[in-house]
Amino acid sequence: MKTAEIAQRFLDFFEKKNHTIVPSASLVTDDPALLFTVAGMVPFIPYLSGVVPPPYPRAADVQKCIRTNDIEEVGKTPRHGTFFQMLGNWSFGDYFKEDAIRFAWELLTAPEADGGLAFDPKDLWVTVYEEDDEAHELWRTLTPLPEERIQRLGKDTNYWSTGLPGPAGPCSEIFFDRGPAYGVDGGPATDDDRYVEIWNLVFMQYEITNVRSKYDFDIVGELPAKNIDTGMGLERIAFIKQGVDNMYETDQVRPVLDLAASLAGKAYGAESHEDDVRLRIVADHVRSSLMLLADGVTPSNEGRGYILRRIMRRAIRSMRLLGVEGATFPDLFAASRDAMKESYPEVEADYARLSAYAIAEEQTFLRTLAAGSAILDQSVVEAKNGGGTTLSGSEAFLLHDTYGFPIDLTLEIAEEAGLTVDRGAFDQLMLEQRTRAKADARARKGAIADQSAYREFRALGETVFTGYTELQTESTVL
Ligand code: ATP
Ligand code: MG
Ligand code: MG
Ligand code: MG
Repeated sequence: MKTAEIAQRFLDFFEKKNHTIVPSASLVTDDPALLFTVAGMVPFIPYLSGVVPPPYPRAADVQKCIRTNDIEEVGKTPRHGTFFQMLGNWSFGDYFKEDAIRFAWELLTAPEADGGLAFDPKDLWVTVYEEDDEAHELWRTLTPLPEERIQRLGKDTNYWSTGLPGPAGPCSEIFFDRGPAYGVDGGPATDDDRYVEIWNLVFMQYEITNVRSKYDFDIVGELPAKNIDTGMGLERIAFIKQGVDNMYETDQVRPVLDLAASLAGKAYGAESHEDDVRLRIVADHVRSSLMLLADGVTPSNEGRGYILRRIMRRAIRSMRLLGVEGATFPDLFAASRDAMKESYPEVEADYARLSAYAIAEEQTFLRTLAAGSAILDQSVVEAKNGGGTTLSGSEAFLLHDTYGFPIDLTLEIAEEAGLTVDRGAFDQLMLEQRTRAKADARARKGAIADQSAYREFRALGETVFTGYTELQTESTVL
């Protein structure tokens, strides 16, 4: 079952259950505090919070999402993409737990001929919030799940709140058991690799106050209008239904992976685990970049553009680690476009524009890499010959300042060579440079120096990398 077909089945199912089908919102949110749409609920926040009256009591959609906080997992777990699609159904003060559970179970287990996804109930587990007896009882009575496959878990995994006074409530999650080959028995509570989370049902039930932390607050009472908010990972369903090992091997991602492998002269799945991870990273990151470019993000040194730049550079760097020195984006982006265009025709319609950005970004970064890598390699050799295990802060600073070599890359390369970087000294030098620059600017009082020759290199190195930690959190979403 192709990814696009699974998405269509989801929409058809919920349309039959009287849901209004809503198109995906952009990856770029209206909210400047939240860089990207990180979950299906994001575009519905005004309705869920009661700020805007919902135009329909029920809705369903396929929402494009970006989660940069999962970037370190990409390629290593089977289930984390920086880009993915979240299937969701919503009730705004309409149906609640019982129908949410009923619908989810029916769609997952109904035969394919009836529009379902035909999961074998024996492969499914669910979790409920430990105090949510109601949800526990509903799963027990509405489905054939034996009691031992309904696990009670704590607030950290099974409670949703924004960390602010307002709506909150328990969650119930559905997991697919990949079998004993993947890990220990015992359900989602015990093993992350064997039990793949496929669907999260959020029951927005309570109004909370005196919020001391995301999971420590007082309940004022039940909300007058309770909401349902669900999120099912399309790629996770796809990889299970397609009988492959992970989401990077599904029909929308695999063509890029295969092309990257062939450009690198590698046999995916046969040689080295490390190379396989890199190929999966390339496939994921190329797709995410394509989708971000299609939604109007362009590479830059701040905000959304910086995240895009980071993702593209990580793909380029991964290709280099796979042994490819030259440009690969012209080929890889075209492959990703072809894999995605059925679901997102805009990636084809707008391809000339977005591929121009991707190709230019790759050329610039390859030049930077060529200049910086030679210097860095030499520093690494010197450090090792001297018996040292640390690359000095001043070397890292020189690379940054003169060659526009990003610090995160220096850290990564040093780590691969078994060295650490004196980050404290580097940060100190950065601080001093900034102070100096400010003083200079004051002294010049508007005098103009022609720095155009430096602009390109400087532009590459100016931003201290804080993207993963600062720019995006999940705190207000699923
Ligand atoms: P996990 O615990 O596996 O990281 P999650 O609890 O962070 O998932 P939710 O925030 O509950 O995920 O999102 C709802 C659904 O979206 C998940 O059940 C999963 O199917 C899907 N999903 C979440 N993150 C990703 C991702 N990075 N890539 C692909 N699918 C994802
Ligand atoms: Mg997660
Ligand atoms: Mg989870
Ligand atoms: Mg979850």
